[in-house]
Amino acid sequence: MPVQGSSAHQNGRFTADVVVVGAGLSGLVAAATAYAAGKRVAIFDQEPAASLGGQAPWSFGGLFMVDTPEQRRLGVRDSTELALGDWMASAAFDRTEDAMARQWAAAYVDFASGEKRSWLRSLGVGFFPLVQWAERGGYGPQGHGNSVPRFHVAWGTGPAVVEPFAAKVREGVGKGRVSLNFRHRATALLTSSGSVTGVCGDVLEPTTAVRGQRSTRTVVGHFEAEAGATVVTTGGIGGNHEAVRRQWPGTPPREMLSGVPASVDGEFLDVVQRVGASLINGDRMWHYPEGIHNYDPVWPKHGIRILPGPSSLWLDARGRQLPAPLFPGFDSQGALRHIVSTGHGYSWFVLNRTIALKELALSGSEQNPDLTGKDVRLLLTRLKPRGDTPIERFLERGADFVQAASVAELAGRMNDLAGSGLINADSLGRIVLARDRQVESGLGKDPQLAAIHAARRFSVDRLMRVTPPHRLADPAHGPLIAVRLSVVTRKSLGGLQTDLRSRVLNDGGQAIDGLYAAGEAAGFGGGGIHGYRALEGTFLGGCLFSGRAAARDAALNV
Ligand SMILES: Cc1cc2nc3c(=O)[nH]c(=O)nc-3n(C[C@H](O)[C@H](O)[C@H](O)COP(=O)(O)OP(=O)(O)OC[C@H]3O[C@@H](n4cnc5c(N)ncnc54)[C@H](O)[C@@H]3O)c2cc1C
Repeated sequence: MPVQGSSAHQNGRFTADVVVVGAGLSGLVAAATAYAAGKRVAIFDQEPAASLGGQAPWSFGGLFMVDTPEQRRLGVRDSTELALGDWMASAAFDRTEDAMARQWAAAYVDFASGEKRSWLRSLGVGFFPLVQWAERGGYGPQGHGNSVPRFHVAWGTGPAVVEPFAAKVREGVGKGRVSLNFRHRATALLTSSGSVTGVCGDVLEPTTAVRGQRSTRTVVGHFEAEAGATVVTTGGIGGNHEAVRRQWPGTPPREMLSGVPASVDGEFLDVVQRVGASLINGDRMWHYPEGIHNYDPVWPKHGIRILPGPSSLWLDARGRQLPAPLFPGFDSQGALRHIVSTGHGYSWFVLNRTIALKELALSGSEQNPDLTGKDVRLLLTRLKPRGDTPIERFLERGADFVQAASVAELAGRMNDLAGSGLINADSLGRIVLARDRQVESGLGKDPQLAAIHAARRFSVDRLMRVTPPHRLADPAHGPLIAVRLSVVTRKSLGGLQTDLRSRVLNDGGQAIDGLYAAGEAAGFGGGGIHGYRALEGTFLGGCLFSGRAAARDAALNV
């Protein structure tokens, strides 16, 4: 059995107990679990070794967990019931094919309320003690959103979540029990009498592409791998804008950035569908309205997502304020729909320097070198940000940022940047003035200010995420800043329909013998564990939970 797949060999035949297609987090978890259960495993990935882990090493490492010691230390009172209520309200399952996903959702909230944390701790993953509050909702107690902060950032971000599983796989490779084959692109499933018996595909030419960079598709050979169980973990479609547009509910935006590498192409999902698998909820996707162009791109159209605090004014392309509760950080999907419905693919944050430095966090491991590098000294500078921080670099070099001393000047710069005259300086001035008068009143009727005051009752928000309310136009907090925000693609919420054992189902609801799916390819479980909306930090955990379930079942049956 060839090991390490350096593509030195042109053609290959493999036999294993379990074949895993895709070496992202879900694939590594499945492979590590099957290996630990004593099985021989063969893993195939179209990218080079540099991209081991797929999207997860890029991720912020945010993990949705419920009723944890970290929450309790911060005075947050959470419970499985509260979290499940939030989940179901956000998911808003309304299709008959959601039946399995509902079961997955309940099982996942249970996992996130208990075993998820202890399991990761036992594997050496630690957590940043200051839990963050993502997707706050704003539609009342039975509406979308997290009632309490649940976003626990892994100490070391995404790479730290991947490492224990990658290490186990490396151990298996060392012992000759795991074969890890890069530049092997699966193109078809092998079948026999209705069962899936393996996978075959192309061996691609070697590449020097670094992590995340688009690689070539030149074919230099063929491979075939036979196994008792085949686990599909090829991810979603976010890097394939053609597919995203095709599946967009309604009219997609004209321009989009890409928040994932080009390898997230979704092409293998169609292959799996061809053997009778039920592929559902393609129109449910989790893209963000707060994307900015990366000034140092790695993959095509590389966009970074801003993780915003609640204080910026959010305006559409014409300068009209988004309606409540579409404040920054409250309802990604609602804001996305609203912005796209204006016919323009972009919107604006208007803020000032004080707010920018405290409230504009950036998603991604490389944008958070303090947490990724476990660097406490650097981390402490978040409390008094100045100098060469990631956001300062975007302020200086980012294509989407303009700064000005006055509102009129800012409006002019926004129009220059957008190449349009859509921002009217007078009406922007009126919006800013009206907001600032509400601040001065000390009380006021502005729901965004009320939300800011409410957020500041939470110690972490007060400390590092939410500025004390102040006048936007106050020169002491200046200059004024506008950020042009583009739609940035990220996750697929739909996928291959699976049962609670991660077995892929056919359109009749029967499990296809020998075939499993996990991670984003399976909608993180059941073909769409999130329904329409996510509570955030739920994707990495979905890979862990569904990848493990697939391998546990496969190991029992091969
Ligand atoms: C910048 C960023 C920040 C994020 N932050 C968070 C966060 O804080 N919290 C959270 O929960 N989630 C986060 N996510 C999402 C999360 O990282 C992903 O949803 C998750 O890692 C997906 O893992 P996966 O294994 O299902 O798929 P992927 O990571 O996409 O892996 C799929 C693998 O399959 C390979 N492949 C595809 N097709 C084939 C084929 N035909 N043959 C062979 N190989 C193939 C690909 O090359 C890839 O390596 C973030 C993602 C990004 C990009």
